[in-house]
Amino acid sequence: MDSSIEDAGALAPETGVAAEAEPVAVVAPGGAPAAEAEASGVVTGAPGVVTGAPGVVTGASGPGADGGVAVRPPAAPTSLSPSRAGDFMQCPLLYRFRVIDRLPEKPSEAATRGTLVHAVLERLFDAPAVERTAPRAKSLIPGQWDRLRENRPEIGELFADDPDGERLARWLGEAERLVERWFTLEDPARLEPAERELFVEAELDSGLRLRGIIDRVDVAPTGEVRIVDYKTGKAPRPEYAEGALFQMKFYALVVWRLKNVVPRRLQLVYLGSGDVLTYDPVPADLERVERKLLALWEAIRQATETGEWRPRPTKLCGWCDHRAHCPEFGGTPPPYPLPVRAPGSLPVEQGRMGPD
Ligand code: SF4
Repeated sequence: MDSSIEDAGALAPETGVAAEAEPVAVVAPGGAPAAEAEASGVVTGAPGVVTGAPGVVTGASGPGADGGVAVRPPAAPTSLSPSRAGDFMQCPLLYRFRVIDRLPEKPSEAATRGTLVHAVLERLFDAPAVERTAPRAKSLIPGQWDRLRENRPEIGELFADDPDGERLARWLGEAERLVERWFTLEDPARLEPAERELFVEAELDSGLRLRGIIDRVDVAPTGEVRIVDYKTGKAPRPEYAEGALFQMKFYALVVWRLKNVVPRRLQLVYLGSGDVLTYDPVPADLERVERKLLALWEAIRQATETGEWRPRPTKLCGWCDHRAHCPEFGGTPPPYPLPVRAPGSLPVEQGRMGPD
């Protein structure tokens, strides 16, 4: 299988911040919130399926890609994506701020660089295989950067205090290095992705809808499926690999439910450190993830109904845009915007859920 997947060329983009199915509001110039979709593209059109016809989202070319989504009013969650599942596991209150209150967040350099690199890697496959070289990929950066700023004007504030452009030049240089490193890990000349930036959505028997965007799907002539995700950060230490694979197993579960095919391989490509993490799932893995997601969704449902969203402080709070609203930091959350039932004990304890 490895050789068939690797050589077929037929098998065919993390995410600084890719667009996932549940956008996080991003502060636009002047403080008006614009939208962000999770890290590599933005969902446009109807839900897609793995076959790729309607609903396939190409983050770099779809209308409205990379942002431009109007901020939506507060609402109860109706589906789950890997990022938002991760938010709840990290901190239930963070999940509330992002999914229910939809509080705006500022764009970050790291997340925006991830979006840019994803766009470049995705667009490179538009070129004939022999032209998929590192210089060609790097030449795509300026155009994709222009396009990103055009579609998401709020990004302009990232370098508003950089009049001589030095910081921007360093930032773009780092994007170049990430793109170059990809060529030491994979050979795009030998790949013909079946899908790029694929929006997937599946409904489980329980009614829970799972959705997300898969960076790349490769399909070997034998029909074996490989799911690939680019990460612009560094690979986690081995003891944290399971957490990193949660997102991939989530996607594998969606593909399995949609196509009745268990992906042969899950592959995380870490451009920040030059590592590739792979995992070959079996149905029992995905059944375990499904049980985990159902328990998670039940906890989210209960919190939504009671309005009890507990903060769970960790060192990750340092990156949280919502400390001013967080009781752990002396803040007060905005009034809860949804109807609540009388608070009671929560059968599923919040804040104790790990990825597996
Ligand atoms: S600051 Fe920390 S505890 Fe508070 S909402 Fe953000 S992640 Fe949660």
